Amino acid sequence: MAKVSEQDVLAALKDVADPDRKADIVSLGMVTGLVVRDGHVGFSIEVDPKRGPALEPLRKAAEKAVEQLPGVLSVTAVLTAHRGPGPHGQQSGPSPAQGAAAAHGHGHAAGARAGGEQKPLVPGVRAIVAVASGKGGVGKSTTAVNLAMGLAASGLRVGLLDADIYGPSMPRMMAISGRPTSRDGRVLQPLENYGVKCMSMGFLVPEDTPMIWRGPMVMSALEQMLRDVDWGELDIMVVDMPPGTGDAQLTMAQRVPLAGAVIVSTPQDIALLDARKGLNMFRKVDVPVLGIVENMSYFSCPNCGHRSEIFSHGGARREADKLGMEFLGEIPLDIAIRETSDGGRPIVVSQPDCEHARAYRAIADRVWAKVSANLAQPQRQPPRIVVQ
Ligand code: ADP
Repeated sequence: MAKVSEQDVLAALKDVADPDRKADIVSLGMVTGLVVRDGHVGFSIEVDPKRGPALEPLRKAAEKAVEQLPGVLSVTAVLTAHRGPGPHGQQSGPSPAQGAAAAHGHGHAAGARAGGEQKPLVPGVRAIVAVASGKGGVGKSTTAVNLAMGLAASGLRVGLLDADIYGPSMPRMMAISGRPTSRDGRVLQPLENYGVKCMSMGFLVPEDTPMIWRGPMVMSALEQMLRDVDWGELDIMVVDMPPGTGDAQLTMAQRVPLAGAVIVSTPQDIALLDARKGLNMFRKVDVPVLGIVENMSYFSCPNCGHRSEIFSHGGARREADKLGMEFLGEIPLDIAIRETSDGGRPIVVSQPDCEHARAYRAIADRVWAKVSANLAQPQRQPPRIVVQ
């Protein structure tokens, strides 16, 4: 079968014209993040967010143009908001080295890192906390959801952002279906359940869409989910990061103004030092690691309550001590956690009196204590979403 190349795709896209700007989308520099892998093609078309809704036919036309190429198995084109009016927009404000921290005089709150964004992506959000792991399947998403529920149980205004774009699990874990709507055609309304506002790529992209997102596409999707969503005013936003500590995660940690990170690990991953890589990644980008959670720490038998330490439980606590990190808590391997998590009834809300729910709430309390201690005095920007 014919093998399709990036050049072939760009050549096909040169036949697609922006209806208003009267030139093709390649020459106009609107095509970014092109990925071609085994016949699957993905790319973004950068547009002015105001024109977004009107440009759906353009997006479709671009997909169609590429679909017709021999050797193409699937095409995913997304409209993403282009960033600012070119170099002038980027240059405003302090030098990048000074970053938002100096500009706003904040301590370690969202938007406070040197070299970060020029202005906060989500001005109404007081703190953004990432939940990360060295690899998939360790219970990162389950921890993120129950952490969010625990924070909400303390009366905080909480958002949950599913940045695990490769395998979004929030629609299932939060029992939310449907698509976000927009009141003004520019900003999406987040979906909500259990008192927590939630946004996930899973709400926007049908489940069978091949997830060939990479680098730039992931970044623009994430930025849009932060910037172009009406989060309103939140005390804290929990971000479920994609698993791993590769470039995508590093870029993400750099671009999102994180107040801190929580690392989730199983006892056996700690032995493989995956969590340590995660720690180093956040340190590299100056994001404070709030601590480590040991998940699937021990097995608690649903019949007799016996505790089996199948994975040499305690590894994370020892490792945390060694690294000078706080050990935030341990959560056992328990079928009730799996069933409630996968069934869209997070254990913190569905069984609030059980010991696991208490453990999650204690972790949430500790995370908030650390984050709020770092927050600047209440002198935040107005709670308005800025769409460039
Ligand atoms: P990740 O986000 O790291 O890929 P998930 O949170 O999706 O991991 O969890 C992977 C699977 O393990 C899910 O089926 C989830 O319900 C289950 N799981 C997570 N934590 C626990 C736990 N403490 N006890 C039992 N099952 C768990």
